[in-house]
Amino acid sequence: MDERSLAASLAGLPIPSIHYFESIGSTNDYARTLAERAAPDGTLVIADEQTQGRGRLNRHWETRSGSALAFSLVIRPAPEEMANLGLFSALCGLAVCSTLRSRYGLDAQIKWPNDVLIHRKKTCGILVEAAWLGSQLQGIIAGIGINIAPSSVPSPGDLLFPATCVESELGRPVDRENLLAEILQVLTSQRTSLGSPEFIANWESWLAFKGEWVRVEQPERTLEGKLAGIARDGSLRLQIKDDEIIEIAVGDVRLRKAV
Ligand code: ADP
Repeated sequence: MDERSLAASLAGLPIPSIHYFESIGSTNDYARTLAERAAPDGTLVIADEQTQGRGRLNRHWETRSGSALAFSLVIRPAPEEMANLGLFSALCGLAVCSTLRSRYGLDAQIKWPNDVLIHRKKTCGILVEAAWLGSQLQGIIAGIGINIAPSSVPSPGDLLFPATCVESELGRPVDRENLLAEILQVLTSQRTSLGSPEFIANWESWLAFKGEWVRVEQPERTLEGKLAGIARDGSLRLQIKDDEIIEIAVGDVRLRKAV
């Protein structure tokens, strides 16, 4: 993987510039500095290795050299997308999930709000952040990390949730640049339906643990209930009693299967 081969693989996609690094702290951090300097929509930061990759709540995300995809897109939302800013992370999850399903035949699912699982093991983590200057949005930073080769999967002792990689589930090698191009193609096309009923319906149809008993950990409380689906605005619908469904907004929430 290098800047030239990436440019060839991504030709034809709306990616105005590619910033490739053999090793970087975090692609999201670099993409943020670009967003702050008015980088255009679709600017791509990609690294073969991240040494300070981040998950939500500053948890560590591991990206080992030569084995994974780790990239961040600078998104400059159009005026009509501003009402759905909170759904860009779901868009990333949907794009990865739908690519793995349609192009690779994998039974990928989305652990709400946006982690992508294959056979209930985490294959992709997503971290979407916003760069604000006062009340002015400078851009959305959409970070996506995907485990491709077996060596990308951290040892179980380092994980809160079981993990896997695309090649182990598929049983054959995968070309990282092709997969990246496919995901960006799908993301570009699904972006046009951000927040539409069809977007929510797709998300719900690929939801992991649907109908199962789950635990939702929020900073101030932990709830258990049956995972009922996704509301129109992307909130999780959790049935906590026979006659009571509550909606949980996307935020600093962690979802687990209840044991
Ligand atoms: P959560 O599922 O808690 O929302 P995040 O998406 O924020 O998790 O990702 C951070 C967590 O992912 C870390 O706490 C770690 O357990 C796990 N993790 C780190 N690197 C990887 C990886 N390459 N593959 C799978 N899981 C990972």
